[in-house]
Amino acid sequence: MTGRAAVFLDRDGTVTEPRHYPARPADLVLAPGVGPALRRLQKQGRLLVLVTNQSGLARGLFSLRTLDAMHRHLRTLLTAHDVHLDGIYVCPHHPDGTVEGLSFRCACRKPNAGLLVDSAGELDIDLASSWMVGDFASDVEAGRRAGCRTAWIGPAATTQTEPPGPEPTLRTATAAEALHHIARLRS
Ligand SMILES: [Mg+2]
Ligand SMILES: [Zn+2]
Repeated sequence: MTGRAAVFLDRDGTVTEPRHYPARPADLVLAPGVGPALRRLQKQGRLLVLVTNQSGLARGLFSLRTLDAMHRHLRTLLTAHDVHLDGIYVCPHHPDGTVEGLSFRCACRKPNAGLLVDSAGELDIDLASSWMVGDFASDVEAGRRAGCRTAWIGPAATTQTEPPGPEPTLRTATAAEALHHIARLRS
């Protein structure tokens, strides 16, 4: 194995509570139990990397400046649990967007694996020993395409659809459960 093991984390509905189009820092609230569970994984030496589709940028619903403020807020929330995100990777694109330069079919919007593969190159991550944790079928599919094990949180919301194709490696009702399960496996 070369590189380090990571846990790739979806943001909305996984690390943070589900909200309809979060667009302000205060919209980001940590999901129950996620802080301590992430701390446990980080202490094991795993990298923690947020991978998030934010098509609101392509749709002009919020600016990159606002997103930066939201992610500073998220980092502050996690710091209270002694957790540091090793990376935050954002897909700002959408094929039906309105903002020039962001409105096209990209290779990074989940279920594509671009965010995971890019971060693996930049942070020296071994994808085969890593996990992707998320609440949407597109999270599971992105993890699978990247060659990671996958954890699906659900079904809890009506917006969720069952992951297509093979079963995710793990299914749990909450993100905290998934993260503790991964921590117990230790590899
Ligand atoms: Mg989500
Ligand atoms: Zn993209």
